[in-house]
Amino acid sequence: MARKPMMAANWKMNKTVREAQDYTAAILPRVEDSDGVDVAVFVPFTCLGEVARMTEDSSVIAGAQNFYYEDSGSFTGEVSVPMLRDIGIGAVIVGHSERREIFGEDDEMVARKTARALEAGLLPVVCVGETKEERDSDGMWDKISGQIKRVMEEIDEPAGDEIVFAYEPIWAIGTGDTATPEDAQDATSQIRGLLRDLRDDEFADSVRILYGGSMKPENVEELIAQEDIDGGLVGGASLEAESFIKLIDATQEDNWPVEDQ
Ligand code: PEP
Repeated sequence: MARKPMMAANWKMNKTVREAQDYTAAILPRVEDSDGVDVAVFVPFTCLGEVARMTEDSSVIAGAQNFYYEDSGSFTGEVSVPMLRDIGIGAVIVGHSERREIFGEDDEMVARKTARALEAGLLPVVCVGETKEERDSDGMWDKISGQIKRVMEEIDEPAGDEIVFAYEPIWAIGTGDTATPEDAQDATSQIRGLLRDLRDDEFADSVRILYGGSMKPENVEELIAQEDIDGGLVGGASLEAESFIKLIDATQEDNWPVEDQ
């Protein structure tokens, strides 16, 4: 089954609204013909309205980096799924390791958020990954499989194109230290195998698994050439529009259309 690749920018806590406008204006004409790759831009809350407005008639998906799973109420500082839908947001990152490690989000919270996003028709990009210590002490698969199992327990049975997973080894995020293509393939193929066991072939063959962790124009081709890597979730190298466009172009050329996999 062919999977359409995705290239996603995660700006993290970067860019003013003015900078977001310039960036979005730079990428929009360049992705017009990129119909072989889904492009998403995950931006800070303050830029969401403007990026959603600028991208509404395009194929670019405006995405949020965070939200809370309740719809409204006494949750100071939080933003809900209906609020995101209200301004035209199409996707959300869930369980990014920075939210897990710095803001204490646990597997339970990540699972509930994923379920809420799915119910509301937002595309969740669910991040999983291990620390260096976990990798070195053979705890990597326990960690990753536990993260995925908790999410899969909580959600109904979405189609493969309604949810995306991102394998993001924590030691590779923002460090310049990229996983080798073989290591990234090994992890993403194990993740696909687990999803096959937990659900079925149809889901496992159609769900997209991205790689994240110091992906950049210099290494994107060898990473996305791997059989089970369906694109990227990119922080640092997505901050400049030109660099992100290179990542989109490489993904479009190398991976689509894909013959039956
Ligand atoms: C990320 O933010 O998810 C990420 C992978 O960051 P970087 O590309 O900077 O490692």
